[in-house]
Amino acid sequence: MIDHTSRNDKLTKKMSLQLRDLEYLNVYVTFWGDCAVQMSKFIENKPSDVFVILQFGRYTFHEGKAYVSSSFQNSTLYLNESIDELIDFQKRLLERKSDLGSSGRPLGSSQAGKSIHDDFLLETEFKNIDEVNKIKQQKNVIVLGTIISFPPGVEWYYNSCKDCMKKVTVLYFISDDDDGLDLSEDKQTIRCINDVCNEKGVSVVPRLKLQIRIQDGTGIASLTLLDLVARKLLGKSAQELVDKFVDGETDNLLPDEISNLVGKKMAFKIEISHFNVENNYKSFTVKRFLMIPQ
Ligand SMILES: [Zn+2]
Repeated sequence: MIDHTSRNDKLTKKMSLQLRDLEYLNVYVTFWGDCAVQMSKFIENKPSDVFVILQFGRYTFHEGKAYVSSSFQNSTLYLNESIDELIDFQKRLLERKSDLGSSGRPLGSSQAGKSIHDDFLLETEFKNIDEVNKIKQQKNVIVLGTIISFPPGVEWYYNSCKDCMKKVTVLYFISDDDDGLDLSEDKQTIRCINDVCNEKGVSVVPRLKLQIRIQDGTGIASLTLLDLVARKLLGKSAQELVDKFVDGETDNLLPDEISNLVGKKMAFKIEISHFNVENNYKSFTVKRFLMIPQ
């Protein structure tokens, strides 16, 4: 709850929160004055569920979202009360939960076993971008945002060693019988100098590492999509995309599959890792994504 000064300098209390309806759609609610105080007191006791009826409120729909506010003097708030409509809502919610429950899995089960619906809407906490950028502990969260850009000068793939899968620091050796003038690739050997490979000759394969910036109403976040997840999003492997460029020279250019992502609205399940927290490093790895139909 915050203090809010209105245009005519009147001081009032304001509280914003999200409710969820039976279809798991968020309803964005703003309570003013007495309603904000009432809600604030109610949630001090940390009830496990809060069921809300607002009488004489104002509502609007904007870009498919529902907004409700208690903007009238006579707005009345009913919280977890034994009103028929609320009892009916709770009954329907329980039915809904038990429908899901028959196939529902306990928390903490592996990601692979979770339906994307459960994972995104029920089991993983939702955060806006401002909150995500301030999280100081390891956890997975869901963020929702529009892809706005790709960091300039950052390649969308890297050359990895086929054996150790790591980014390969390439050493070219020109084979002995070469006069040194023919630099075509089949005359070169690539050696991987990562520990496990120890300078042995290897083949190199491009792998995706796509960095994106997303935005919501609260801020901008940097996300990283590693090979498997990026491949799922783009529908193509790094090799297929590199092959679209003449001689594979990408020169910081983006293939259409990537540049066409700008403006797409998506939900991302991201990992706030130990590394992110310890180093205050603000690019988060995407574990899963969900395209939001426009
Ligand atoms: Zn290697």
